[in-house]
Amino acid sequence: MPRTDAPVGAQQWVPSRPSGIDELKSAAAGCQGCELHADATQTVFGRGAPHAKIVFVGEQPGDVEDQKGLPFVGPAGRLLREAVDDAGIDPADVYITNAVKHFRFELRGRRRIHQNPGPAHITACRPWLVAEFSLLKPELVVILGATAGKALLGPSFRVTQQRGKLMPWPASAQHPEDFPVAEVQALATIHPSAVLRADDRDTAYRRLVDDLKIAAATVG
Ligand code: SF4
Repeated sequence: MPRTDAPVGAQQWVPSRPSGIDELKSAAAGCQGCELHADATQTVFGRGAPHAKIVFVGEQPGDVEDQKGLPFVGPAGRLLREAVDDAGIDPADVYITNAVKHFRFELRGRRRIHQNPGPAHITACRPWLVAEFSLLKPELVVILGATAGKALLGPSFRVTQQRGKLMPWPASAQHPEDFPVAEVQALATIHPSAVLRADDRDTAYRRLVDDLKIAAATVG
């Protein structure tokens, strides 16, 4: 039977004064802020440099990430790491996370088919993203795809129109007051899984790398 209760949200699981990302990650392992925790294997928290210059924000973990408990380790993650490399971004400058930290899927037989997280899941999970930003204080936020864009910039975000353009951050965020960091920049591009699905994968990959070159030049 479908669950109809509105999610309570993650806030009550977020430590009030976390000492670091590891403390957030431990706390997020027990999050029940929305129903996605019930069917997924585990929380998949962000990972990367504790003082990353660039924070990448994707949509949600996929099937492989759900099983391994690490973000961006499946096919899309491999492609993103390659693109980061080709763009000349130092991996030591990068932290990578998702707007929603549990895998949402539909069972078809034995297969788990990815489903986009809904607005209620994005809102429920937002306190984790806000807490990550508060600790990381990046110089640049790279938004990967439409779901992350809507989560951070609001429902009118269109990746096709806004990709590859530097935007002021947090001024362009939907709720800039959530991100009490120095004025820095944000850049949107497509999600690496969209490159994998593209008819012309080479062109889609080249355009992703071109966007990420802007990121590389921005953080110097
Ligand atoms: S998706 Fe986010 S809010 Fe929902 S249970 Fe997982 S960590 Fe908590």
